[in-house]
Amino acid sequence: MRRVFAGSTAAPGMALGRVRLERPARFSIDNTPLPDDEVEHEVARLEHAFAAAREDMAELRRKLHGALAREVGEFIDAHSQLLDDPELIEGLRAMIRKGHYRAAAALKAQRDRLIAVFEAMDDPYLRSRGEDVEHVIARVQRALARQASSEEKKLATRVGEILVTESVAPGELAHLASHGILAVVADSGSPYSHSAILARSLHLPMLVNAKGVLEDLRDGDLALVDGVRSEVVVHPAAQDLAQFRNWQRDAQREGRRLARLAGAETRTRDGHKLRLYANAERPEDIERARNLGVAGIGLYRTEFLFLAHEGLPSEDEQFATYRDAILSAGGLPVTIRTLDLGADKADSAGLTVASEPNPALGVRGVRLSLRLPDVFVTQLRAILRASCYGPVRILVPMVSDAAEVVQVRMMLEECARDLRTAGHEIPDQFELGAMVEVPAAAINVRALLDVADFLAIGSNDLTQYVLAADRNNDQLGGLYRPAHPAVLRVLAWVIGRARMARKPVCLCGEIAGDPAFAPVLVALGLEDFSMLPDRILGQRDALSRCDRRRLRAMAPRLLRAHDNGELSALLGNVSPSA
Ligand code: PEP
Ligand code: MG
Repeated sequence: MRRVFAGSTAAPGMALGRVRLERPARFSIDNTPLPDDEVEHEVARLEHAFAAAREDMAELRRKLHGALAREVGEFIDAHSQLLDDPELIEGLRAMIRKGHYRAAAALKAQRDRLIAVFEAMDDPYLRSRGEDVEHVIARVQRALARQASSEEKKLATRVGEILVTESVAPGELAHLASHGILAVVADSGSPYSHSAILARSLHLPMLVNAKGVLEDLRDGDLALVDGVRSEVVVHPAAQDLAQFRNWQRDAQREGRRLARLAGAETRTRDGHKLRLYANAERPEDIERARNLGVAGIGLYRTEFLFLAHEGLPSEDEQFATYRDAILSAGGLPVTIRTLDLGADKADSAGLTVASEPNPALGVRGVRLSLRLPDVFVTQLRAILRASCYGPVRILVPMVSDAAEVVQVRMMLEECARDLRTAGHEIPDQFELGAMVEVPAAAINVRALLDVADFLAIGSNDLTQYVLAADRNNDQLGGLYRPAHPAVLRVLAWVIGRARMARKPVCLCGEIAGDPAFAPVLVALGLEDFSMLPDRILGQRDALSRCDRRRLRAMAPRLLRAHDNGELSALLGNVSPSA
């Protein structure tokens, strides 16, 4: 039966395909009874999982040497004995055969029973053995889950699936896209998250905050992800399929129309020249952007290199990546942003950072880099070495105080000196810019302009900090609004001050590429826009319809608007709705 689930569009587009469910752990224990004809298959799955867990332990044993082999080896032996315990395995088999338990549910029930027995023991040593049971069973559960995911992978080879999941990390997305996933539907998340930005860059339609999908969808259901209406239609009806075909046809036609703008200059209707830059996460983005005719790379995010890497990338690995990015830009300037990680993502990037109650307000971006000088110096050296392959600008994220930029400049100069002494070719000059994302940096932008060569406004973060509304929190979707009059006033102030100081200022948050924001940004005096390559042609088109003189004259009235209603009234139908 046709059913519709509403969400928020994080990456546009439509896709029709079969559902592949990836349920989080809280859903993974299926307590429904097994049908008769699956019982023996389930017993076999359990036995395979035990065998795989035994093999894991043996592998671990083989890898241990010296003192470690003695100390840890004892635990491994104890765990291996438990894995061979005939009573445990026989008990589980009986639960599956007689009680029709699924293997994972039987394991969980046994774990709970055994832990209760150990916890009731008086002897503290014996009581502590409960932990061993816990570890061994967890190992078997993991082996079972691996089997399940390889079964899912078989399903995935049927090509053309829609991944339905709780949330998806940026690192996973690239992998999914390259494995033929057509679209992603997440139960939580926000259109301004890093995953959403990456999905747009990968052309992977993505809906977030689609409540109910994890509970109600089944593997193999046919679903239509509709990024236009921000919904997922399961078991779509004939009229949905017709809409999908229309959308495909319109998208192709619009693509052909916009393709004619590739390589063209960007000018407003009254002839004022603007510069469009690209945001890039991957070398392919740069290649693509160059073909569309951009003025350069306005934001090259380096965190993805760290997140996709096992452990920390070395100086040479980073150098090679940055050099290739610079070479792909073919002489256009590349703005490389230094690492922007915080306690929420540092672990997956191979950094050990104390967890924080409030990572968005914690040790993030340049704050983290300045606290980890070894990691930071490695990155700065790699960027400096790469900078002799083409024009590079270095951009520092999450600046809240001009002193941070001064400190980075000193470190850069020291790195440059060391590299030259070691015989490296390093350009004499480098441009160092600050991201304006923290209200303090925006309000006190004059101090920043004294020490930075250029500014890049990160409106994604600036919005969340001005409105105190977490960009990743789907509960706050209505509060997180880049078009809020308070955000627009801050943007106007920063752009105006930078223009007065005659220093370049580029906007590189998501709104820079949103056609609905084109008139407002032109009104505020913005001339440099940086966006995902996908957005370039559409935004060039939208900007070419803006009358700059008229919009600039309207700016004071726009900034006096108390709310979005007033803004819309001033701008007509083209005002931002986000
Ligand atoms: C921003 O905050 O607007 C920005 C461009 O940086 P990121 O989205 O990577 O935080
Ligand atoms: Mg940011």
